[in-house]
Amino acid sequence: MNKMVSPAGLEPVDGPLYAPHKKVYPQRVSGTFRRIKWALMAVCLAIYYFLPFVRWDRGPTGPSQAVLIDFPSRRFYFFFIELWPQEVYYFTGLLIVAALTLFLMNAVGGRIWCGYLCPQTVWTDLFYAVERFIEGDRRDRQKKDHEKLTLRRVGEIGAKHTIWLMIAWWTGGAWVLYFADAPTLVKDLATFQAPLIAYVWIGILTLTTYTFAGHMREQVCTYMCPWPRIQAALTDEWALNVTYRYDRGEPRTSVKKAAALREAGEIAGDCIDCNQCVAVCPTGIDIRDGAQLECIQCGLCIDACDNVMAKIGRPTRLIGYESEVNLERRLAGKPEQTRIVRPRTVLYAGLIAVVGAIMLVTLLDRTFLSVNVLHDRNPVAVKLSDGSIRNGYTLHLLNKRGFQRTVAIDVDGPPGVQIRAVTLDSITPDRPMVTLERDATTELRVVLTAANEDLPASTPVTFRVTDLGLGEIATATDHFVNPQP
Ligand code: SF4
Ligand code: SF4
Repeated sequence: MNKMVSPAGLEPVDGPLYAPHKKVYPQRVSGTFRRIKWALMAVCLAIYYFLPFVRWDRGPTGPSQAVLIDFPSRRFYFFFIELWPQEVYYFTGLLIVAALTLFLMNAVGGRIWCGYLCPQTVWTDLFYAVERFIEGDRRDRQKKDHEKLTLRRVGEIGAKHTIWLMIAWWTGGAWVLYFADAPTLVKDLATFQAPLIAYVWIGILTLTTYTFAGHMREQVCTYMCPWPRIQAALTDEWALNVTYRYDRGEPRTSVKKAAALREAGEIAGDCIDCNQCVAVCPTGIDIRDGAQLECIQCGLCIDACDNVMAKIGRPTRLIGYESEVNLERRLAGKPEQTRIVRPRTVLYAGLIAVVGAIMLVTLLDRTFLSVNVLHDRNPVAVKLSDGSIRNGYTLHLLNKRGFQRTVAIDVDGPPGVQIRAVTLDSITPDRPMVTLERDATTELRVVLTAANEDLPASTPVTFRVTDLGLGEIATATDHFVNPQP
């Protein structure tokens, strides 16, 4: 048995640790939070489904898709940003910013991510809308689930699952479009000429979307997602969570009885125990039982209760976004206080700003030309017949620009050192020049030769690669080895 904490004023209750699953039939509701949810759902789905079709001009040879994860070329394109595999740390930065944003959201408004933006919520909401459209509202669906199957009912079930599968299939289809040129891939998929892996991924995502959003629904949030547990540890008494204002709602009683009680000078709460807040809840809980792990803070119970309060002529927001501090202050007869700006939120916002600024600066400051150097291992150095010393190196020249360019290679090292390219269309042998292909790494073998006069065992050398057109410079350092100093 598991001890559950009920709202202040009510006794703790014993409940089973594991309860059998009860199907939830959320009722249609209208109101402010429902409208916000529709709007956010439309924006999220529009971005997800249509972003791969947005075009971006990267010249005649670059991909024209604004957002593209190009595995064969090992590139990630995001509008004007192009990331190489060695710049994967930007993704680390993005993940840190995403986590901090989640913490900030939680510190301000509890699980608002869960209630409004999480893909599980968005797609489940969409699947519920389809279900309601075909099978009717809560009572109709409850009734139909307990009736015998008729031809009409079979048709309804068939239509619902077909539309669910179509949405799920479109979801999987949109996912693979982020990994190849979308219009081309759509054509290839339609003519069965796309790579097998594309069909496999569409199949996997169709199945997971259909299962999670159509069948598992609130169970994903309650049992599978770690965020509710983490969130509970991160929240504080100032966070605004969806809360039943029991100080105003209790004792619950009908409109008629409440009027009689109030006339007799007795206390009657504003809650009329109509259960509308429970009926609309997508996780099937009663918010009047206090804060619960299942609550995704979607605010739909606020809309439901506001509609009831408006009908019976009582002030709205018997359920609302509320902090623990405010509840206690009201009980103590003190004025309400909301503190969005506090050390926790300032810290999260500050960290987001710092990490974001670091990413922005490094992004703006990053070089589009780089060079790596590898000293020959065997032999490390060679003594020539005239007594001079020769060292060999392999240079890896990286051109991140979307066009070809010519670079010259100079070297600073032992006095009088000379550089010569071994594998090259070099125009001037003593100052090798190389044409670098767009978006590619070019390998170049060079040898350095220096007179063996008072050379130490190891002398630092710097290779300087200069773009002759743009003037961009990249450098790499190594050593010039003298085997017989
Ligand atoms: S209790 Fe209210 S806010 Fe919480 S999940 Fe249910 S409807 Fe949404
Ligand atoms: S909707 Fe409002 S009045 Fe009705 S049961 Fe819920 S809290 Fe009480």
